[in-house]
Amino acid sequence: MVDIGQWERLDAMEGVEFYAGILVPALVNAHCHIELSYLEGQIEPRGGFAAFAAGVARTRNLFTAEQMEEAIRQADVKMWQEGVGAVGDIANGVSAFSVKANSPIRYRTFAEVFGLRTASIEALEPMLHYPETSLSPHSTYSLQDEIFKQVCCKGDAPLSIHFMESPGERELYEGHGALSEWYKTQGWECDFLHYASPAERVVASVPAERSVMLVHNCCVTQRDIDVIMSHFTAPVYWVVCLGSNDYISGLKPDINLLRRNGLNICVGTDSLASNGSLSMLAELKRLNEYPLDEILTWATANGADALGYGDSLGRLEVGKRCGLAVIDALDYDKQTLTDRSTCRRLV
Ligand SMILES: [Zn+2]
Repeated sequence: MVDIGQWERLDAMEGVEFYAGILVPALVNAHCHIELSYLEGQIEPRGGFAAFAAGVARTRNLFTAEQMEEAIRQADVKMWQEGVGAVGDIANGVSAFSVKANSPIRYRTFAEVFGLRTASIEALEPMLHYPETSLSPHSTYSLQDEIFKQVCCKGDAPLSIHFMESPGERELYEGHGALSEWYKTQGWECDFLHYASPAERVVASVPAERSVMLVHNCCVTQRDIDVIMSHFTAPVYWVVCLGSNDYISGLKPDINLLRRNGLNICVGTDSLASNGSLSMLAELKRLNEYPLDEILTWATANGADALGYGDSLGRLEVGKRCGLAVIDALDYDKQTLTDRSTCRRLV
């Protein structure tokens, strides 16, 4: 960005292009699993969490490596064309790294540590040779105590933790609910329930000076927010993925609770396994009841800051190489998006 200004008359100037709409810096998708793109349309919507997990397990062996890579490539191209400039991407394997390496989109990859019987990060270490890739724990219910703490204390990159997506996450610590019952039927025991709640486990495990992205937040309460915010000195980012929540459970985060607390809200699409598209504009349309400048900040500057890219991306400022997109077909009187709004990349 060389200069930003206002002109009374541009029509006579050579080389000027006109666009009807609003110019925005490239959008930041704060939470995605691009490697799951081959699962588009494979899992029935609104089946709940158990049906979703079973659906992923059932369908993931039906595809060849080539089909998986092609789906990843197409998802990456589409995100770029629709104005995305950076992605916070979760990885369980290396299948997406070649696409990401050749993409104009900047990716921060969170190599996800997952599984109650996972005792070591050894299997994930090869992933850490890829650029801008660091370890992150999946959630507060899927890792035992020692390895969760180990991952939270290793390095200084931001963490991205699935957090309070379903009521079962809290109920597990209270000895009941869907997760608790499922673990009992599998004979799995948890050694971390003494933390009393997911929020308390996070603050007992993550150093205060480490930035963390908490993803989903459907069941977050004021008390959870108080516990988290009284601990961290580094910024905490609260990522909402409304399309995915709608697809899996129909639950919704209390966004006004997050706003009232003045929290840093970001926007993510989650994966094509649990969303009809990876369109950030589709996510923004789901947030249309909130002020447009606010939701655009969530989808640009806040996402860039969360990924550690705030010095170059997310803001229209002189000196930044933030990319440019145009969002059109707005309702200018109400200052909202409309069903017809589109977002496309200019630069
Ligand atoms: Zn996710």
